[in-house]
Amino acid sequence: MLLLKRREAQPSPEDALRRARIEYTRLEAELCGRHPRLRIKGYADAVAWLKDGGLAVVEAKAGRWKGRHHLLQAVAYALIAEHLTGEKVRLLVLAYRDEVMTARFTPRLALWVERVARAVRRLPDTWPPPRARRSRKCWACFYRKICL
Ligand code: SF4
Repeated sequence: MLLLKRREAQPSPEDALRRARIEYTRLEAELCGRHPRLRIKGYADAVAWLKDGGLAVVEAKAGRWKGRHHLLQAVAYALIAEHLTGEKVRLLVLAYRDEVMTARFTPRLALWVERVARAVRRLPDTWPPPRARRSRKCWACFYRKICL
């Protein structure tokens, strides 16, 4: 029940693009894929083909801006979208209930994700993995069945 409420509060990609006054010709929802060189996988809420060329990656959140990890996520999706479509991403759109934030997709942002992906790969490969610490956000997390 609560989960349903959160989903309802999440803005749709179409709504986010309309609020940010971004014009597009095509929208693909739930673009899922991987980037083989960076060895990352992702599931972007939507990718829009912009009217004046290039792509926008839209990431919609039920809550509010909670820090740079939302941006990091969108940048990772942008790299995956470029790999899958062969087109350049120009814009990142982070949509919240009360606001829509946009950022230009720059080589510097791409480098940030490359560095994080490299750092994650350097983590020791232990089995079993360390137990996750339960937190308030776990109740609504997609991964809780396998994580906790
Ligand atoms: S259930 Fe989700 S939020 Fe909780 S620790 Fe695991 S991945 Fe993080």
